[in-house]
Amino acid sequence: MKELKDYVVTIPDFPEPGIMFRDVTSILADAEGLKLAIDSLQKLLEGIDFDIIAGTESRGFIFGMPLAYNLHKPFVLIRKKGKLPRETVSETYDLEYGQATIEMHTDSVKPGQKVVLVDDLIATGGTIEAAAKMIERLGGEVVKMVFVMELAGLNGRKRLEDKGYSVDSAII
Ligand code: IMP
Repeated sequence: MKELKDYVVTIPDFPEPGIMFRDVTSILADAEGLKLAIDSLQKLLEGIDFDIIAGTESRGFIFGMPLAYNLHKPFVLIRKKGKLPRETVSETYDLEYGQATIEMHTDSVKPGQKVVLVDDLIATGGTIEAAAKMIERLGGEVVKMVFVMELAGLNGRKRLEDKGYSVDSAII
């Protein structure tokens, strides 16, 4: 039987020479892969008490939303700068080259709410750490970070666990 990792396609030299890009969206092209991905992520959330699932643009939306639907929780969008129509909170973080800014609506998380963060992949952990900071500024608590896949060697998991976050991936 095919495992989840077998559905991931690796593309060398994308988006830049020397980078091995893991195309997690290739999982979605197969109905069995898609089901396995969502079921595997859902398993990682078993026994966790939380109020909201938040996903980062854009693949965090794809993998986070079905979890929110299945578990009957609200879904919050963490978007790239300039996309959200109402009052936002934002966080800027470092990329390998340059910086990026992400935003969420200020009313999307209420003080004391427990939030699960979802993305397709963790590399350095910078994106998800910025997302967590925003949630905390709104008074929320990040109780879990889940990913379809993690890139070993970039220490993303360690960076987050050292800060006290609970991190899990479907493909380690
Ligand atoms: P980080 O902030 O360094 O952990 O990078 C993770 C973010 O970049 C996530 O939002 C991923 O979607 C994206 N990303 C980085 N590398 C890859 C990759 O090899 N495949 C898919 N997405 C990637």
